[in-house]
Amino acid sequence: MEPAPEPDSHSTEDRDYRAFVDSLAYLPATDIARIEAAYAFAAKAHAHQKRLSGEAYISHPLAVAGAVVEWRMDTEAVMAALLHDVLEDTQINKKQLGEHFGQEVADLVDGLSKLDKIEFATYKDAQAENFRRMLMAMARDLRVVLIKLADRRHNIRTMASLRPDKRRRIALETLDIYAPIALRLGLNKLYRELQDTCFELIHPVRASVLRKAMRAASGNRRELLGKILEDLGNKLKAEDLDAEVFGREKSLYSIYRKMKDRHLSFLQVLDIYGFRVVVDRLAACYLALGALHALYKPVPGKFKDYIALPKANGYQSLHTTLIGPYGTPVEVQIRTREMHQVAQEGIAAHWLYKESDPGNSTELEIKTHKWLQSLLETQSGDSSEFFENVKIDLFPDEVYVFTPNGKILTLPSGATAIDFAYAVHTDVGNHCTAALINHVLSPLGTKLRNGDVVEINTEPSAVPQASWLSLAKTGRARGRIRHFLRNMQKVESAALGKRMLYKELLAMGVLPVSVAELNWQQLVNSSGSSTLHDLFTDIGLGKRVPAVVARLLLAREEIPSTQTTSTLAIHGTEGMAIQLASCCQPIPGDPIVGAIRKGHGLVVHTVDCPNIVRSRQNEPGKWMHIEWEPEKGKLFEVSINVGVKDKRGVLAQVAASITRADANIVDVSMGDPDKHVFSTLSFTIEVADRAHLEQVMRALQRLPEVLQVSRESGKE
Ligand code: MN
Repeated sequence: MEPAPEPDSHSTEDRDYRAFVDSLAYLPATDIARIEAAYAFAAKAHAHQKRLSGEAYISHPLAVAGAVVEWRMDTEAVMAALLHDVLEDTQINKKQLGEHFGQEVADLVDGLSKLDKIEFATYKDAQAENFRRMLMAMARDLRVVLIKLADRRHNIRTMASLRPDKRRRIALETLDIYAPIALRLGLNKLYRELQDTCFELIHPVRASVLRKAMRAASGNRRELLGKILEDLGNKLKAEDLDAEVFGREKSLYSIYRKMKDRHLSFLQVLDIYGFRVVVDRLAACYLALGALHALYKPVPGKFKDYIALPKANGYQSLHTTLIGPYGTPVEVQIRTREMHQVAQEGIAAHWLYKESDPGNSTELEIKTHKWLQSLLETQSGDSSEFFENVKIDLFPDEVYVFTPNGKILTLPSGATAIDFAYAVHTDVGNHCTAALINHVLSPLGTKLRNGDVVEINTEPSAVPQASWLSLAKTGRARGRIRHFLRNMQKVESAALGKRMLYKELLAMGVLPVSVAELNWQQLVNSSGSSTLHDLFTDIGLGKRVPAVVARLLLAREEIPSTQTTSTLAIHGTEGMAIQLASCCQPIPGDPIVGAIRKGHGLVVHTVDCPNIVRSRQNEPGKWMHIEWEPEKGKLFEVSINVGVKDKRGVLAQVAASITRADANIVDVSMGDPDKHVFSTLSFTIEVADRAHLEQVMRALQRLPEVLQVSRESGKE
């Protein structure tokens, strides 16, 4: 039998893959097999794809994973980097990924695919910061951002075969969105690379002119540069400081920006010589500073201590500007090796440093931690836990959505289409009828997600509904809705109250028009209402009983304040009279709905009350969803049925159990014993809320005599 054909072990992919596997040595040995499995899976999924350059597609995820390994990220991040394009480009779905590689990897890959779906370049410059925030918010996990940056870097590096317009779009987007994120995370090396590469892609001519100019200038500069470098090195050595000194190359893009932003000529920008001094310990930074200030005269006002006061992204260094030979300005940055690493690799230095010097990692961890905290001004909750998982929700309280013409609105998370409508304009909110979310017709109560495009349909005749109060999350929307309802309610209630009182008078045989003006006046005076209109409103809202007011009008007696006004607090009811329906006896914790019933104010039922099913179907507009307002110390009546074995003393036992559970018994009745074996006890008891009721019912169920306990629902 012929041997199986040898795989081509000399192919580029193969070599790259073996180098990649070798680089995984920092991870636990048991994880390597998982990473290899992820690679095999990705390679198979992309088997029929090629990159535009003609390479096998898998070379791209492999390169991205390579960067992730360079940053010493964890196993899940490496796997996600290998798999990052499979959801986008192949038939594989998230569930399958989860089954193969676990939920964490599937979530990371899913997060990356979501970021791919947003296109940034079509929006205006001024919104770039919003986009950056949105992107970070959508990523939720810092690892997603880092893998995305590695992905972007590799794409930028390999864009040669792309169509020029596409290339330009991606370069612009990278410059506006991704490079600043890299800077924000302190990934300076990556930041500079992204900027320079994109600058060359967007302005190839300017870049090449600048590059040539730099090359030409470097000849003249070399001698002076060498002399300053030598001076600095000698001085530090003379002071017995263990230091490395480097000349600092300015990036092409930073020179370009300086010229453009500060209106400087090329030579003016280039004429500043930059150096970096890296020392072995913190105290040496200040010693080196002193030595260099003794060597060359410092420029007053140019010294900055970013060691004592680090930048927001964790950057630390001493900056000073000296006057070198021939009056040449010399910029020097002084820092320790550790600070240098943070300056170069930012957040990734956390993983890097841990590997190179485990003994010192805690200090860096604390620093990185502090820095992340300052980065996440809005972050709340347990920060140590958050850091352990390297999971961050950078702007957890906000959601970023678009208007149809591309403007970004920032809303609190959990905000709905109603909130969006009121955020656009009060009139849009007051007349909205429906929302198109990502072009799909959606209910106004739909929660918005990052990146949604929202369009609101309005109708001049549409008005706010009381039920909207439970859909709106922002104070602005709720305030506007309340304001509208209050005005509406007054108008409607007054008309209703007037009709109710007139009806009552007629029933008493009195024609309303025959009542003397004086009587009306005295009625208003004695009622405490400021106008007759207000009194009508109170009647309409159910705060006063029409029969009582009618008698008062005729007898001119004091109007007693009526008992229907409950102090029960229900969210969003705005001082309406409230009555709990006796059929279903809602208690706090029950999902409830309410409807205004003439003369009763707001009548509250449980959502599943059988008595209101038909009305809710026929007149849905009448019913509003309402919520309980937490309230201490108030008790609510509720009826329960307890099926028991009909034994002597059973009632006493059940009653004692109810009392032990801290509920009051208001009433009890006993059904007919069923063949003298079973019977049903019906209790009306007082409880604080649903949880309390459940506690009572559980206590009863534990009694051996009790067969079954149920809550009475919907008596006629
Ligand atoms: Mn990719």
